[in-house]
Amino acid sequence: AKADGRGAYRLFEPSMDAGAQARRALELDLRHAWERGEFEVHYQPLVELSNRRIAGCEALVRWRHPSRGWISPLEFIPVAEETGLIVSLGEWVLNQACVEATAWPKGTRLAVNLSPVQFKSRSLGSSVVTALAKSGLPASRLELEVTEMVLLQDSDLTLATMTQLRQLGVRLSLDDFGTGYSSLSYLRKYPFEKIKIDSSFVKDIGHDAGSAAIVRAVASLGRDLGMSILVEGIETTEQFERVKAEGCTEGQGYLFGRPVPSHEIREVLRGDAQR
Ligand code: C2E
Ligand code: CA
Ligand code: CA
Ligand code: CA
Repeated sequence: AKADGRGAYRLFEPSMDAGAQARRALELDLRHAWERGEFEVHYQPLVELSNRRIAGCEALVRWRHPSRGWISPLEFIPVAEETGLIVSLGEWVLNQACVEATAWPKGTRLAVNLSPVQFKSRSLGSSVVTALAKSGLPASRLELEVTEMVLLQDSDLTLATMTQLRQLGVRLSLDDFGTGYSSLSYLRKYPFEKIKIDSSFVKDIGHDAGSAAIVRAVASLGRDLGMSILVEGIETTEQFERVKAEGCTEGQGYLFGRPVPSHEIREVLRGDAQR
């Protein structure tokens, strides 16, 4: 952001350190980006490990900054969460993705990430209803991904919202499993249909017996609970073979496909359907 206008000295107090100033600049830039429509949704395949066919795609938001180029969501999502912008941004991603997914082959699922802040906004249920109604996407094709961070807040409201979403026919996935508090009681308390094992476990599955044992245990637990188990961050054939052998059902990662813009994912899906 530029130090334009008279308000500038208030936005960039001399007492702010460089980190705080950069943060403030990013906040302002993000607000402008929203007004100018600089966001885009990309899609990454989620594949069935048994036959490598595409079961669905995850929507991943991208910010094309006019001077800095692509900025990673890892950098701007936390800022959007702090400022509350994530509520409108998240709703936009959901609507955009639902519309685009209606052009995909029938049955291909759409996964959308939800921030804990969206869960707290209380309008989440109606936003989902609206996105489905406006796009015409069947609820059964939508998967909403939440992290354990969602489960750490007000559990009555969270559980009520999740139950409402399930009643609509939407599926819920527990994202980044293994990185947070990973309480197994979550799996009993909340109505998840899928666990997404974090990429950190697959990274050294070939030479770390501990990672392999955890993947195996989660896969076995998921099977007993009737859930699908997806492993994130699969980059090599060796990792793919390993997680399949450990009993996981789905995978995601550069081996199967990187996140790509909407028009490219349509090509990818068409190719997959012709196999
Ligand atoms: P995530 O939900 O865990 O998404 C998976 C991330 O792993 C994506 O990063 C994806 O590009 C990356 N990835 C996929 N396969 C591989 C692989 O084989 N190797 C490696 N090294 N990385 C892989 P991305 O797109 O940068 O997104 C980062 C995070 O930002 C997401 O992590 C998610 O937490 C958040 N995010 C992205 N889009 C949204 C959104 O629309 N809403 C919200 N609330 N969060 C979002
Ligand atoms: Ca995710
Ligand atoms: Ca994840
Ligand atoms: Ca992650």
